[in-house]
Amino acid sequence: MRKNAAATLILVLSFMLIIAGCGGNGNTSANQNQDNATKAEKPESEAVSGASKASYTPIDQLQDKYDIIIIGAGGAGMTAALEAKAKGMNPVIFEKMPAAGGNTMKSSSGMNASQTKFQKEQSIEDSNDLFFEETLKGGHGTNDKEMLRYFVDNSANAIDWLDSIGIRLNNLTITGGMKEKRTHRPEDGSAVGQYLVSGLVKNVQSKGIPLFVNAKVTDITEKDGKVNGVKVLFEEKDEKNIAANAVVVTTGGYGANMDMISSVRPDLKGLVTTNQEGSTGDGITMIEKLGGVTVDMDQIQVHPTVQQEKSYLIGEAVRGEGAILVSKDGKRFTNELDTRDNVTAAINKLADKAAYLVFDSGVKSRAKAIQQYEKMGFVIKGETVEALAKEMGVPADQLKSTLDTWNGAVKDKKDAEFGRTTGMDNELSAGPFYAIKIAPGIHYTMGGVKVNTNTEVVTKDGKSIPGLFAAGEVIGGLHGQNRIGGNSVADIIIFGRQAGIKSADFAKAQ
Ligand code: ADP
Repeated sequence: MRKNAAATLILVLSFMLIIAGCGGNGNTSANQNQDNATKAEKPESEAVSGASKASYTPIDQLQDKYDIIIIGAGGAGMTAALEAKAKGMNPVIFEKMPAAGGNTMKSSSGMNASQTKFQKEQSIEDSNDLFFEETLKGGHGTNDKEMLRYFVDNSANAIDWLDSIGIRLNNLTITGGMKEKRTHRPEDGSAVGQYLVSGLVKNVQSKGIPLFVNAKVTDITEKDGKVNGVKVLFEEKDEKNIAANAVVVTTGGYGANMDMISSVRPDLKGLVTTNQEGSTGDGITMIEKLGGVTVDMDQIQVHPTVQQEKSYLIGEAVRGEGAILVSKDGKRFTNELDTRDNVTAAINKLADKAAYLVFDSGVKSRAKAIQQYEKMGFVIKGETVEALAKEMGVPADQLKSTLDTWNGAVKDKKDAEFGRTTGMDNELSAGPFYAIKIAPGIHYTMGGVKVNTNTEVVTKDGKSIPGLFAAGEVIGGLHGQNRIGGNSVADIIIFGRQAGIKSADFAKAQ
């Protein structure tokens, strides 16, 4: 529980930081929205209540009815709201936590997309078909192919759309399971999540879309088979019925709901989770009550590289930029950029089920997220390989020989030991040297509610439930049995947009 409270505090404080940091014109969202100050007082600290005050819609502005209700203010929810608003609708967002952002805020690697203008600018030859094939291969052929086709074909548009609203992802890297640089990051190579959330919040606020926090949706209401609103619990005490012509569920996954996870995957009990505490699968439960069906609920992604003490994900970009994984014996043991399930399985075969990411100053300068890991105290440093080995407690001779062999493989463009082919642009030879100790942790729930490519929630006979839409981690099927890193950010933007557009079409026709 204390951990949860601390996690909330970190979420809210980081939100304050990004809000403070995103005022490119010297006009921060917080300042612009001072008048919209919420009256919500959170007990955590003055600073926290200050953040809430400055950023969200006050409860006295609540209306009884909106065109569209969006449940959850992560990437999918805010994207849907922006598109619905662009179609002339009056949407509202209800977020149960004290701050917007959800798991989106924590995403690090980037957003996958193919045939984008940024790839073209950088002479990267990619295709929607290759993106399709590699995602399908990563998902062991079990992905919903119609959803996947829509996804890849609309990925470049989604990058353009983000760019058009001031969210520029033009720095390209590679993550596990892909042959081309397809993972789009912010210009400075930093983690995508905070940048994306701050940009979306800015847009939501500048467009005047109401966003209520501490507003937990407990039920979706319907009349005569048509969804007509929600029940919302404000500040854990006041429950209100709010009407709408359409409801979009963007509540994220269930990666923080251990009961739900262990009911479908008892083998995962006891693992740490990288999920924010609001990811409890509420949307799935509410949708099932209305006759919606789920798919792939037991497909839960365990991420191979999680710092265990703080349950903090160490993004794939670190490996994408050249880091290797070594065991406590100082030896490599896998293709570090194999798919997440394979890398996880390789770590779990080690005696202590843990390993070290090892990298040099070059990787550190290219993967900006490492600065954050350093601030959080995760990074072990040594001026030389020997000094690093000593700090890590691994045999120095072995680590040195591992790095020599690896640098030879980089030079020859051939990893004879494990067949790695990507993230090999640079040798690991520029001191100081670094390491981060990691082990697997629950990361992402691939399963969820079934929707069609219009993001309409469907019942077991394949019919859509009128007025009910869903997008983001709450939906299942797209990723199949294994999600490729960088595909969830693409998922929330591509299908978040679609949910905003289709719910607007539906609401207008009412
Ligand atoms: P996605 O990546 O699909 O956008 P996120 O995890 O980023 O998902 O965001 C989902 C958001 O939905 C989170 O901020 C979470 O706290 C919020 N949420 C979850 N359940 C509810 C609920 N019952 N009512 C309101 N908000 C919710």
